[in-house]
Amino acid sequence: MRRTTGRNFLFVPGPTNIPDRVQRAMLVAMEDHRSSKFPDLSTSVLNDLKKVFKTEEGQVFIFPSSGTGAWEAALTNTLSPGDKILASRFGQFSHLWIDDMAQRLDFDVQVLDVEWGEGVPLEQTEEILRADKKHQIKGILACHNETATGVTSDIEGLRKVMDATNHPALLFVDAVSSLASIDFCMDEWRVDLAVSGSQKGLMLPAGLGILAVSQKAFKAMKSCKSRRCYFDLADMIATNPSGYFPYTPALPMLYGLREALDIIFEEGLDDIFARHHYFAEGVRAAVTKGWELELCAKAPKWHSDTVSAIMVPEGINGAHVIDVAFRRYNLALGAGLSKVAGKLFRIGHLGDLNELMLMGAIAGAEMAMLDVGVKVTPGSGVAAASNYWRSNDPIPKKKVSKEEQFYEAHSTGSVQ
Ligand code: PLP
Repeated sequence: MRRTTGRNFLFVPGPTNIPDRVQRAMLVAMEDHRSSKFPDLSTSVLNDLKKVFKTEEGQVFIFPSSGTGAWEAALTNTLSPGDKILASRFGQFSHLWIDDMAQRLDFDVQVLDVEWGEGVPLEQTEEILRADKKHQIKGILACHNETATGVTSDIEGLRKVMDATNHPALLFVDAVSSLASIDFCMDEWRVDLAVSGSQKGLMLPAGLGILAVSQKAFKAMKSCKSRRCYFDLADMIATNPSGYFPYTPALPMLYGLREALDIIFEEGLDDIFARHHYFAEGVRAAVTKGWELELCAKAPKWHSDTVSAIMVPEGINGAHVIDVAFRRYNLALGAGLSKVAGKLFRIGHLGDLNELMLMGAIAGAEMAMLDVGVKVTPGSGVAAASNYWRSNDPIPKKKVSKEEQFYEAHSTGSVQ
């Protein structure tokens, strides 16, 4: 029998928990999306999303789709069939973008297969780019945070490799499970197409595909021959500047997005990134120090601050842990996908969270593991996470200069 009382503990790495404020903001009566009032909402969210991508020169587009739609929009608006793409594959989402999409759209994809648990291989990428003297590679695809394995790649490093080899390809980055949770610097890293969705760091339901586009990508659009219709940016470019969409927008989602952006700016992006790191470190302590299990991520440099993929011991089926957690404890954990199906389960730690919510996920995962025969010490995960969180600050204290201390003291009135 499934437990149905109490709240469902949602710890898949997206959709994430939606703040009550955002839920309430979405409870709106329908409005005319062609009214003179509508552009106030649409323009404000489109402009403010630029701050989340950290772009001033780029432009953001919102499709009533999911992240997959924004993947498609990125490719079909800038590349032509037959164009060569370089893409590394190290998890289900990098795989889907390459195999299920780029190849079906008739691009010529050079796949760099990497062990699942690692991320974009910078040295190999550099070798390939250096050898591509005629610049046949038109696009490089990178998944910033591979949600299936809990691996974050070094996009800044990838840009450096592209610069070092003087390679002019467009840089496409999947930021679906990193945006608004792990630092993402579109302009600084000169990302040309950054893809995201609403249901992860932006703390909304699924339903918006979000795409940020650089000026260089707009130039590539001019000669792009891929067929497209619904995802044609030209239609957005014709209507968005006046605050309208080429079709009926998902109005409640836009109200929700407005509220979510307000929440994000109230906390501040830097503090959000620090909080996600602090939560992730607590979960990693539970996994490695408490349960003495391994993460799928092969080394600390790959650790993701939004999702941890936890390897189950030989002889245990990860799907069994997930099923018991759901039926017996009303806890939703992320599944192992394709190549790692059954071998792991995932805890999503992104979005609207606190320590005690995560403690529920850790305790529930631990009980489910014990129920299916994983030999972990009862209470060890919770103890390890608690030790980490109790002895670390969520937001590392900033170094304050003497001058700042002086002004702080005077402005707060503690010095008269
Ligand atoms: N990319 C990554 C890294 C993801 O985690 C996901 C979904 O979880 C997607 C792409 C696909 O996004 P959607 O399911 O919103 O279409």
